Amino acid sequence: MIEVKDVTKIFKTKSGQLTAVDHVSLSVQKGEIFGIIGYSGAGKSTLIRLLNGLEKPSSGSVIVNGQEISSIKGKELRKARQKISMIFQHFNLLWSRTVAENIAFPLEIAGVPKAEREKRVQELIELVGLKGRGDAYPSQLSGGQKQRVGIARALANNPEVLLCDEATSALDPETTDSILSLLKDINERLGLTIVLITHEMHVIRKICHRVAVMQAGRIVEQGTVLEVFRNPQAEITKNFVMQVS
Ligand code: ATP
Ligand code: MG
Repeated sequence: MIEVKDVTKIFKTKSGQLTAVDHVSLSVQKGEIFGIIGYSGAGKSTLIRLLNGLEKPSSGSVIVNGQEISSIKGKELRKARQKISMIFQHFNLLWSRTVAENIAFPLEIAGVPKAEREKRVQELIELVGLKGRGDAYPSQLSGGQKQRVGIARALANNPEVLLCDEATSALDPETTDSILSLLKDINERLGLTIVLITHEMHVIRKICHRVAVMQAGRIVEQGTVLEVFRNPQAEITKNFVMQVS
């Protein structure tokens, strides 16, 4: 489903160069929830942005659904990206649009006719548990509800992959759990492949099948969540596991 092959991303900075992602290889299977955990600055967001072509690797390749995302651009990349959706820590909603209009936005861009759009928006609103809130504005919603809108919008064009960049980091623990349950439910019901980045190990434990631990741009450990919790190898992994035990 997703193949990251020896990917390095170097940013040019004022003081020289910064290696944000350093020779990373990983593969994510179809229908899997794959977690990436690391402290701030580890390179998690850069890695996830490489998965949908928002960043280009300095070397190595990224293949999603058999297509080399790292080498396409323009219209072809925009089309591929409809199948690789993303949700964010701060939701990135359009504040002057209602819930229904936010969810309809990617459908408009994809050229879906109005009647079909309205039907799809209603389905999505129900799927994420926001029935009756279609006419509300984002500012009238709680954080958890805002993220539900983000999820509905991300699912609008039936993506194959959902990328989650710290999607629950702005939420309290209870709301975090409800959003994680929703993601798991969507993964099971739609067979959607999910890549989720976080700095919280309980997020990994709650919904991920496998996990990679990132430190200074590198993956220092990866395995099933069960293995990593039972027998963490790297020092940093032990610290993360301690967070939740
Ligand atoms: P956080 O948990 O704080 O979100 P992260 O693991 O997502 O951190 P990244 O945002 O991927 O980390 O950043 C990794 C490194 O790359 C950081 O040192 C960051 O400053 C640097 N970096 C990221 N994007 C750029 C950019 N566009 N230009 C220059 N440096 C960048
Ligand atoms: Mg980040």
